Amino acid sequence: MRRSRWFTFRTRSLYLKNDSVCFPTLSFKDRVVAVALAQARNFGFDVVSCSSTGNLANAVAAQAARGGFKACVFIPADLEPAKVLGTQIYGARIIRIAGNYDHVNRLCSQIADKYRWGFVNVNLRPYYAEGSKTMGYEIAEQLGWRLPDNVVVPMAGGSLIGKIQKAFNELIELEFVEAKPVKFFGAQATGCSPISTAVKQGRSEIQPQKPATIARSLAIGNPADGFYAIKTMVGSGGWAEDASEQEIVDAIALLAETEGIFTETAGGVTVGCARKLYAEKRIRPEETTVLCITGNGLKTTDALAGRFELPEPIPPKLAAFEEYLEREVANVSAAGGQR
Ligand SMILES: *Cc1c(COP(=O)(O)O)cnc(C)c1O
Repeated sequence: MRRSRWFTFRTRSLYLKNDSVCFPTLSFKDRVVAVALAQARNFGFDVVSCSSTGNLANAVAAQAARGGFKACVFIPADLEPAKVLGTQIYGARIIRIAGNYDHVNRLCSQIADKYRWGFVNVNLRPYYAEGSKTMGYEIAEQLGWRLPDNVVVPMAGGSLIGKIQKAFNELIELEFVEAKPVKFFGAQATGCSPISTAVKQGRSEIQPQKPATIARSLAIGNPADGFYAIKTMVGSGGWAEDASEQEIVDAIALLAETEGIFTETAGGVTVGCARKLYAEKRIRPEETTVLCITGNGLKTTDALAGRFELPEPIPPKLAAFEEYLEREVANVSAAGGQR
């Protein structure tokens, strides 16, 4: 990052792994679904499915359409409208559940037992997990076949963070990169932080929470891989943080203003937590650090409601523009020259 109000030092060693532009549905979930659906075909599934906090539903719907599968996805009823529409447009069937993600996931486990459907995050989960590793491979490749000192990863079910570590370990074993210690830092929203809380309290077991956060893609109160995520962080000498609703929104704006990347709420969680980790000196400016930006801001515009005023329209006349300019200059000087 070049400049910011929060990172009060200059650093040339902070990198962004930008999955807000993943193909085809603008989140890191496109990676996991690519691998899971390849295997769904090998297994001969006609119907593919998932329980989802939104991004996974988008990825399953799009890639099922492309691959000739029928798609049926299960979501909590209160998901962001853009994520619902971004699933329906591909012709997928949506089943909205009156409950949170943990209720949806439990139901999907029961359905997967009974029907011959390929649930990408239930009976196809090992393949889904392999897909997450590609993010780790690309981080090493794009750093010039080097490993970073630190990685900051948003956590929902807690799978991605451990798979990036697995990817790095594989590259070390294959001698694609030199072995070195990498610290793993997990990021959650304060309103749903079962994994971060366990790390901060020194526990290795998750105490489930009831999610209440704008970071809906991370709103999993009882994370399936939480135990392993804790091991990855603590075992590597890393740590966990959580970001409040206001910190998430401010971090979304910070990333947009400094880097021109519009991320969703999960990206706000990552940047907001990274800022705290620097302030706590758990991450040092001279260390090579990668932030994982996992989703696109156009899917979670609801979180920014009320942040910006819509300017009054002016007539398409030069005189009107100059009048507007004068008014603005007057406003700025009235405010003491500050914006
Ligand atoms: C799914 C998801 C993650 C990480 O999820 P894990 O379950 O922890 O692997 C991170 N960011 C976004 C935007 C996601 O949709």
